[in-house]
Amino acid sequence: MRYDGIVIGGGPAGIFAAITAARRGKKVLLLERNDRLGKKLLITGKGRCNVTNDCDAGEVLQNVPRNGRFLYSALAAYPPEKVKRFFEESGCPLKTERGNRVFPVSDRSSSVLEALQKELRRSGVTVRTGRVTDILVSDGKVTGVSVGKEQYGSDWVILATGGMSYPTTGSTGDGYQMARDLGHTIVPVEGSLVPLEADEDCAQMQGLSLRNVSVKLLDAKGKTLFTDFGELLFTHFGVSGPTVLSASAHLKGEGCRLVIDLKPALEESKLDERILRDLQMYKNRTMENALTDLLPRSMIPVVLKRLEIPFDLQANSLNKQQRRALVALLKGFPVQIRGKRPVAEAIITSGGVKVSQIDPKTMGSKIVPGLYFAGEIIDCDAYTGGFNLQIAWATAYAAGMAV
Ligand SMILES: Cc1cc2nc3c(=O)[nH]c(=O)nc-3n(C[C@H](O)[C@H](O)[C@H](O)COP(=O)(O)OP(=O)(O)OC[C@H]3O[C@@H](n4cnc5c(N)ncnc54)[C@H](O)[C@@H]3O)c2cc1C
Repeated sequence: MRYDGIVIGGGPAGIFAAITAARRGKKVLLLERNDRLGKKLLITGKGRCNVTNDCDAGEVLQNVPRNGRFLYSALAAYPPEKVKRFFEESGCPLKTERGNRVFPVSDRSSSVLEALQKELRRSGVTVRTGRVTDILVSDGKVTGVSVGKEQYGSDWVILATGGMSYPTTGSTGDGYQMARDLGHTIVPVEGSLVPLEADEDCAQMQGLSLRNVSVKLLDAKGKTLFTDFGELLFTHFGVSGPTVLSASAHLKGEGCRLVIDLKPALEESKLDERILRDLQMYKNRTMENALTDLLPRSMIPVVLKRLEIPFDLQANSLNKQQRRALVALLKGFPVQIRGKRPVAEAIITSGGVKVSQIDPKTMGSKIVPGLYFAGEIIDCDAYTGGFNLQIAWATAYAAGMAV
């Protein structure tokens, strides 16, 4: 069976690359190993899919800490504005929320996938299931792919197999091996936007979700790497939640720590007054029971232990020095970071096909003519906010237009 071109991987990048090429009159085969397309796309944005960010290409680049410059041409040619137009015209109306995050009006990622599937049909892409095992090359040029014993011939191949996060969605890193086999360098992969392993006492608070806290990430020398405001979750291994996932993209070297301001709305003096009031009101209680208005239950033993205040100390016996230390801890609760959780638990994979081996205008391999890349397989990653999908659309468009 012969096609003009084959796209490997039916995630957002592969689907969009296939549509773009087919709209230009190419006979395209899209191969996906799962029995349905876009398994990961369906779980994005907590099932709502943050499709892109409503900003210009320059602002997208500011949100790409890794190899942003490589994406310059692709984002200039296919900025968020065009992504929005594509979905609106494909019958998926969009809305913009806090932080310029763009979602389908339906609040369902399935609307995004349905729009893509409609365009696949309309542009005449052939979709097949099958796990591609090899990219075939003859005389140094791409000639097709094999799916086990079956072979499909083509003049070009777009490799869009994604990264290695959430492998149950199909993204198990197959593409890295195929690219490596053809002489490409794979920059070692690790998770980004990933939960963090931390101090052991975090486990005592597992399940506790703190809302409206301010979070700072510091390096080993105390330099601030990142600040955020929002939600943080304690888990059996450490910390997670939106603020932590974002912070993980800024983690540098060993010895980083998070510092959580548990009462960001109160200045130290006001917090001190508040604590004094509570201690007065509950003067006959033990410290363990006197802080219940101020802190979540599971946090109280951890706080008292860190301050070396006996749990059974009577509230009216707390001295000024101890109270001051309590204020300081609530305004800056340190969590020592031991490292990232495995890439399988990450939102995005950092690392992948080395960008210096890819033409930034066409996404074509500089090593094997006829081979192109799109999406997360490329060594680029961004912060949260719809920027990672924007990278998928833009690189897919570049490849689909170049083939
Ligand atoms: C929980 C979660 C939430 C997220 N939320 C957002 C969000 O709201 N906004 C945002 O911008 N980004 C989000 N992301 C990131 C976003 O999902 C990725 O950036 C995006 O899916 C990358 O697209 P891709 O097509 O490159 O790869 P993938 O989506 O990983 O697709 C790759 C496809 O290739 C297939 N494949 C792999 N190997 C083979 C093979 N050998 N043969 C055939 N097919 C193969 C896979 O089955 C898969 O379907 C989220 C990620 C996760 C995990």
